[in-house]
Amino acid sequence: MRNPSVNSTYEAQAEALLASIKAGVAPWAKPWQSLGAQRNAATGRLYNGGNALYLAAVQAVEGYDHPLWLTWRQASKLGGHVKQGEWKNGRPVLWFRLDEKVKTDENGEPVLDNNGDPKTVNFWRSGCSTVYNVAQTTVETKKYQRLLPEVMPEHKRNTEVENFLAAVVEGSTFTQQYTGDRACYIPALDEVRIPPAKLYKAIEEFYATHLHEYGHATGHKSRLARGLGESAFVNREGYAEEELVAELTAAFLGAEFQIDGRCQHAEYLGHWFKALENDTRYFYKAAGKAKKAAAWIKKAASRGGYKPGEQPQPMKEAA
Ligand SMILES: [Zn+2]
Repeated sequence: MRNPSVNSTYEAQAEALLASIKAGVAPWAKPWQSLGAQRNAATGRLYNGGNALYLAAVQAVEGYDHPLWLTWRQASKLGGHVKQGEWKNGRPVLWFRLDEKVKTDENGEPVLDNNGDPKTVNFWRSGCSTVYNVAQTTVETKKYQRLLPEVMPEHKRNTEVENFLAAVVEGSTFTQQYTGDRACYIPALDEVRIPPAKLYKAIEEFYATHLHEYGHATGHKSRLARGLGESAFVNREGYAEEELVAELTAAFLGAEFQIDGRCQHAEYLGHWFKALENDTRYFYKAAGKAKKAAAWIKKAASRGGYKPGEQPQPMKEAA
């Protein structure tokens, strides 16, 4: 079977994201059961960034039980095959791999080092492959059971996330206030404001809000400098993109902590839909920025003393 091209992959992925947004499902709304768990069922490797977002959208729209995927060849290695009738319904994913090649001069001749050996350079190789959800194959469940996410008990999950959030603040220079009835990040003050926990229907939403606002705080000029508050940013496009970055940051981190948040800014869905129609890589770009933001937040947490699995340290919440 021929593999799809990079451009056709971006198009197919954008189409699936559009379909899920059209169906009113933000593909990151259930991050940990879908977005954070998209894996290859043969290698166990996680899909991330744009691929994870795309596969989560497909899973949501098709209603597949498991976030697990296989290539045609992997399915047969696991003793099954892609079901007849599903052959045409494979999904394209992108992969990137660091590779090495011989350095050549303008005539295409190898460049030699002092010993007369050809010099090599590193480069990123990219490509696409077609994957099928395990439900589209006859592979037996026992072959991939061990890859399904294990659910943390709720109290343990809450302790983990509260330790993490406290450590992020400890390891950062922005300030945090529990006040008001609307969460926000104010770039000019470098301050995160979150309504008190009692105003939230579910504790998960309260946690997810922290992750979202921390996502914004990473855009400050002293951190990842995404231009918050600058003149180029003060337009609807800039805001809409920044909102998507914050949503995805919260989703990527929420996936790790098993927090199912919600789409906090549904008012932007229409805008994202249009932007994605115009630029098939729109979500990919935002996902790339969100990945950096999530990594920044995790680093801040470790600076602030976060170690997974530690004893509870109650959140310092002002009255
Ligand atoms: Zn926001």
